[in-house]
Amino acid sequence: MFRWIILVLICQLAPFFSASAQQDSPLLPPDGTSRRLRLPILMYHYISPIPPGADDFRRELTVEPDIFARHLRHLHEAGFKTVSLNDLYNALNAGQRLPQKPIILTFDDGHRDHYDHALPLLIEYGFQATFFIITGLADEGNPAHLSWEQISAMDVAGMEMESHSKHHRDLRNRSSDFLVYELLGSYQSLEAHLGEPPTSFSYPSGFYDATAIEVVQSVPYSIAVTTEPGNRHTMDDILTLRRIRIYGNMPVENLAVALASN
Ligand SMILES: [Zn+2]
Repeated sequence: MFRWIILVLICQLAPFFSASAQQDSPLLPPDGTSRRLRLPILMYHYISPIPPGADDFRRELTVEPDIFARHLRHLHEAGFKTVSLNDLYNALNAGQRLPQKPIILTFDDGHRDHYDHALPLLIEYGFQATFFIITGLADEGNPAHLSWEQISAMDVAGMEMESHSKHHRDLRNRSSDFLVYELLGSYQSLEAHLGEPPTSFSYPSGFYDATAIEVVQSVPYSIAVTTEPGNRHTMDDILTLRRIRIYGNMPVENLAVALASN
């Protein structure tokens, strides 16, 4: 009986967890184990009706609320449980246990529709998500973007409100001063408004270079996400995590295929 239970446990954990010694890793976890996890991180942008006259770019970044609701229903029915980027960090770094079908939902750019359309549906399904905020737009009171009041309300509702820089500029080939202004500036704004510092960063348009990664780490953010595609993660990639891009009105069948991919 005992052996049978052990066997079932191994079978359940095998697809999500594998361990091997890797002594040369610069970010080797404290217990010396290099873990590799398969965990989809979905990347959404607008959750809104398609506005009149929308160009192809806007359409490609928009999931209409009824399609988004279908995505969440599919995730719920397929048994996915949302976890945070910090949960992924702790799983890679220290072996923290995750649900059997973990998933991370992320939303870039801090559009106001995240409060109007995404938040109510996430709450309805009991899902948690991470929202990457362009803090300069909240400071300006840009009406197309979340206000600090809305950002605080989403934080109180259990969402992770994290940094997408101050002004959404390309971070490649920049001076350290520029990067510190954009990355530490947004960190300090989020900390001042929410009472706790952010831990995660999303590179604007997915652009970064070695200097940008260094500044991300020094701010300090402990996790950063890119727009490169992929479902598998190690501690070596914790500042360049891969995501699954959700394109305009992506049919739920295609979402299911993306979730099953590597
Ligand atoms: Zn962005």
